[in-house]
Amino acid sequence: MIIVLQAEATSDQVDHIVERLTEMGLKSEVSRGIKRTVIGVIGEEDVVRNAPLRAMPGVEDVVPILKPYKLASREFQAEDSVFDLGHGVTIGGGALAQIAGPCAIENEDVLREIAQSVRAAGANILRGGAFKPRTSPYSFQGLGEDGLKMLRTVGDELGMPVITEVMDPRQVELIDRYTDIFQIGARNMQNFNLLSEVGGTSRPVMIKRGMSASVNDLLMSAEYILASGNKQVILCERGIRSFDPSTRNVLDLAIVPNVKGLSHLPIIVDPSHATGRPELIPSMALAGVAAGADGIHIEVHCRPEEAASDGQQALLPAQYAEVMQQMTQMAELLGKTIPQPEGATV
Ligand code: PEP
Ligand code: MN
Repeated sequence: MIIVLQAEATSDQVDHIVERLTEMGLKSEVSRGIKRTVIGVIGEEDVVRNAPLRAMPGVEDVVPILKPYKLASREFQAEDSVFDLGHGVTIGGGALAQIAGPCAIENEDVLREIAQSVRAAGANILRGGAFKPRTSPYSFQGLGEDGLKMLRTVGDELGMPVITEVMDPRQVELIDRYTDIFQIGARNMQNFNLLSEVGGTSRPVMIKRGMSASVNDLLMSAEYILASGNKQVILCERGIRSFDPSTRNVLDLAIVPNVKGLSHLPIIVDPSHATGRPELIPSMALAGVAAGADGIHIEVHCRPEEAASDGQQALLPAQYAEVMQQMTQMAELLGKTIPQPEGATV
């Protein structure tokens, strides 16, 4: 249920409504928009439905949200969410995130070499996995905390915010000490304990769509994080499983305008994991920007044949620079910007 307040409602009235809802055992989330303040009411359906919400001073209307996700919905917040990701980089509201880096952090020198190349090409966020969700227990599992230290060091050298995957609720505290943004991988999209745990932090979280997750499933997972108190959730389309092995996954680009209608949260497109084929990545990255994505996520490696993970889909720095140039032109055409990190030292 959403309580739409009168344009002239006072902050005392807002406080009073929130107090009354709490007394009724209901949770409330106040969203102060440019034109209106609305209060999202969450709790047992029956209690919400029977609460005398319309009678409270300052209330103009009470609107049921029929969708199962509430805080993630457009009804709850009409304006696009815009988040500050650190170092002057924002996402949403016309600011494009350009996330790039190796799949896995292998050692500091290689990470630095890749990071310098993507930064020089205009990337504004550095990625690198320190805890890797590998299909085989015999594959490289990541450098753990040593990798996190390297990521932080190189990110700071270049003035770039960093993103890295968290796989387990027990890793949240450790990773929180090193990263600017948490990444929840496709395999963990419905690890609800993990979602609640990152929901208890104050860092932005990028949640990747599960391999066979519906749009509704993805938004419900975002809702878990939002309901735990963390409002900074970024969605990511990374392709879904299909019958056709010609690409690693199937990139569902329609999810971008689809989600834009349903939710205020930003959405990123990851053509690397979606296609698994370097020759397809540039065109799908451009298509992602054209579809209205708030950012693009691409894996890059200087020597893909030596990569510890996902080398077969890595773009070379020169290929990345070329597609970045094209994405920059397309962004200009669409009236969007790619914010460059403050104090970058390439
Ligand atoms: C990754 O980003 O390296 C990764 C493992 O992605 P996904 O969770 O989408 O497979
Ligand atoms: Mn990868």
